Amino acid sequence: MSKNNKSGRIKILPDSVALRIAAGEVIDRPFSVVRELLDNSIDAGSTNIDLYVDNGGIDSIRVVDDGRGMNREDLEICYLPYSTSKIDTMEDLDQLQTLGFRGEALSSIASCSKLEITSKIEKEHPNKIIVHSSKLLSFSETGGSDGTIIDVSDLFYSIPARKKFLKRSSAEATACKKTFLEKALPFPNISFRFFTDNKLKIFLPVSTLKNRISAAYPGVFDNKLLHEISSQHKDFNIKIIAGDPALHRSDRRYMQVFLNNRRINEFALVQAAEYGYSEFLPGGNFPVIFLFLEVDPSLIDFNIHPAKKEVRFRNLQEIHRSVVDTIKSFLSTFEYNYSKSISNNEPSRDFSGFTEILRERDIEYRHTPFKKYNSPEREKSFNTQNKTSFPVDKFQTLNVTPPDNNQVKSNKNILYMGQLFNLFLLTAIDDIFYFIDQHAAHEKILFNEFKSKNRKTQELLIPYLFDLNNEKEEILKNDLQEYKSLGFNFEFLGNNKWQLLEVPEYSIGKEDIIVNFVKSQAGRVSDLETELYADMACKSAIKDGDIIDNTTAIELIEKTLNLQNARCPHGRPVWFQVSREELFHFVGRL
Ligand code: ADP
Ligand code: MG
Repeated sequence: MSKNNKSGRIKILPDSVALRIAAGEVIDRPFSVVRELLDNSIDAGSTNIDLYVDNGGIDSIRVVDDGRGMNREDLEICYLPYSTSKIDTMEDLDQLQTLGFRGEALSSIASCSKLEITSKIEKEHPNKIIVHSSKLLSFSETGGSDGTIIDVSDLFYSIPARKKFLKRSSAEATACKKTFLEKALPFPNISFRFFTDNKLKIFLPVSTLKNRISAAYPGVFDNKLLHEISSQHKDFNIKIIAGDPALHRSDRRYMQVFLNNRRINEFALVQAAEYGYSEFLPGGNFPVIFLFLEVDPSLIDFNIHPAKKEVRFRNLQEIHRSVVDTIKSFLSTFEYNYSKSISNNEPSRDFSGFTEILRERDIEYRHTPFKKYNSPEREKSFNTQNKTSFPVDKFQTLNVTPPDNNQVKSNKNILYMGQLFNLFLLTAIDDIFYFIDQHAAHEKILFNEFKSKNRKTQELLIPYLFDLNNEKEEILKNDLQEYKSLGFNFEFLGNNKWQLLEVPEYSIGKEDIIVNFVKSQAGRVSDLETELYADMACKSAIKDGDIIDNTTAIELIEKTLNLQNARCPHGRPVWFQVSREELFHFVGRL
């Protein structure tokens, strides 16, 4: 962090640089004070940072750090507009390594509060300034240890109009806590403490990135289900703390993107993470994923948003692609390869793959109520069958459709026992009992078949016209060749107008899916094929409720158990399994 701290001394930026800085209100709520002060303490190379927030930060916010501090001269000017030690010239603005750079945080805070700063650098006396509404009231020598203490009290006392917009103190405190966590997550090598109304609320000791994340959200997810993965690229590096697919959630709260250690709202990258997981999660569910990108500062511009929440990338598409690839190759390690064990014909099965899946299932059950997997019709039949109160009666109402000759064995040792609830194919192989979802299974098999077919293209009788905004237009222009190689031919008509001229034969009639994909810029070009195949597979697969004959059932079971990734294209698991060992365990025999 300190590398970029040029001379180490604070200067007032010349107008030529100051004018290039995104103007805007930096301080509008207590959490923005928290954000700026924590940035400064991190930039100062601190190893311990304490944050105190009283009454939601409206009464007082105090940050105590043990960083390099400020000497007498720095302290005298640090609260003036555009005073910074972090950049000197315009070139510096493009090479930033620090979180702060505009020299406007302390001056903005000083203008709307009562500010006191005590600071000490090594081997010198500590000094203290008091500034109210931008006016220096006092400068004095004081006592204390190396580092800086900043006290901000009576926020907006001089601007009642802004004070009126503050929320209840509990809401402000929550926002401060959220900011605190966002700041602390990317710096596991710094110890952070958060106090509200003088009570220690969060303590994050120095640890690994993974442990920092689980400590920041205690009790939310099991640390063992978080994995650290990374990939290196020419102009950027990716580090991800990725949750097991089993950890999925119904909202995006734990999908967080950090760019050069700063949390950003870049939806395209959140989408990239979703795409990476899409074949592994049931629809409508979101993964737990913390994405830390490190991008060469000259390829990004944070200076477009006053609070640095938005950012412009020069190579967003490339990063997007790499994020999806990194996640997908990690998730492929969760696949259980059934074909391996069947072809090796091992007498003693290797359970490690199964245990992984079972462990996952276990948790999935806890997180996802059974209802989620039910279609309305299936739910109805389930409910009517459940009316009786005696378990014995329930057994009688189970509608197993037995196969013609009771049990059918295939030559691969597959024992097929019939269809349950018009959906599940009951199957045993050696020591494992499977409930296979016939629709999901067939869907996945068709999906794989479509994917492996070659593509003939066809010209549309009537070209499909559509509009694109500038940003998406740029992306499509870049991707035109790649789309063309997959059989999708787009033409630019000028003025944000486009037309789709030619598509692969299999996707005739699905022009709206294609154009929506381009408009949402939801993934890599090749993901468009996946989306189309998934749509087709879903429509032509055996439905739940379809009665199927033995030969078809066995064929489907064999293919299903050979699947590489036993999830349907929408991410739902294809089967549920239970082993002999577990069954014995359930009835207390083990
Ligand atoms: P910026 O962070 O953009 O430089 P600020 O207004 O936030 O601008 O801070 C102005 C300057 O004050 C910083 O450049 C830095 O030199 C100094 N400063 C602020 N906070 C601290 C701190 N906690 N420790 C040491 N120096 C600090
Ligand atoms: Mg700053």
